[in-house]
Amino acid sequence: MRIAVASGKGGTGKTTMAVNLAAMLQSTGQSTALVDCDVEEPNAHLYLPVQWEQDRDHHVPVPRINASACLGEECSKCIELCRFKALIWMADEVMTFPELCHACGLCMTACPAKCIDEGQRLTGKVRCGFVDQGPAKGLELSSGELRVGEAMAPPLIKEVKGTARDRDIQIWDCPPGTSCPVIAGLHGADAVLLVTEPTPFGLHDLNLAVQLVRRLELPFGVVVNKAGLGDNRVEQYLEKEGIDLLGLIPHGMDAARACASGRLLIELDGYRDAFERIWSRVLPLTKERTS
Ligand code: SF4
Ligand code: SF4
Repeated sequence: MRIAVASGKGGTGKTTMAVNLAAMLQSTGQSTALVDCDVEEPNAHLYLPVQWEQDRDHHVPVPRINASACLGEECSKCIELCRFKALIWMADEVMTFPELCHACGLCMTACPAKCIDEGQRLTGKVRCGFVDQGPAKGLELSSGELRVGEAMAPPLIKEVKGTARDRDIQIWDCPPGTSCPVIAGLHGADAVLLVTEPTPFGLHDLNLAVQLVRRLELPFGVVVNKAGLGDNRVEQYLEKEGIDLLGLIPHGMDAARACASGRLLIELDGYRDAFERIWSRVLPLTKERTS
């Protein structure tokens, strides 16, 4: 079962939700993996004592042209086919811009002279390990870290998700927002848990996230974090839209202090129950997907 945790904006408590949900499940004996898909800002590991077992580079294939075998400007097939403008004709040869390449492989396949082979572009790092102590002991964590300067997160997100072992439950901590990295994070999920906060910004960006998951036809529900902080416009919106409210995580100084010091909320009085209730409401969503 693969549950994606997402939000329309950063700072709503999405990672707090994903980490605590995964830790709560693991602590009750359910074989769980947490996948940190937020490769531009991975931080799930800050809450967990992780023993890393794998730490490796990830590359995508980019074209490398053998200019001496190229048929010349009259051909230009690779340039015409590349919709990302990663190839141009300049100074009597095909010039490549690897940073613009989406690694689709089309130019390599289509070249009539077979003079394009695979080079590599480093996208970032992939790590995988286990929590070795505390309530979440045994929880698997997979994580990625995008190379500084690398613009395309989706290939690395896909790799991080592929690295996660086949546990009974996978919790995917998706990147914030509603752009391509989020879609890469949501792809293949059985249900989506959208995290928001009861503020005007939270409501605005929740609405964008709702439009996205509806477009992707994924079952979803909403968790309101920092409940009690703002107003009740998020609840009114959910009622009007017929969206399931999966639960509330109360706002409190004890929770803020715990998060700031990298502690799990499930260790605080009252919070564990809130995560258990949320999980009991997520399960019916996954059945919607399979029915
Ligand atoms: S692999 Fe695809 S995106 Fe990259 S240069 Fe070739 S056609 Fe363009
Ligand atoms: S498709 Fe091949 S032969 Fe044609 S211009 Fe590109 S590199 Fe040269």
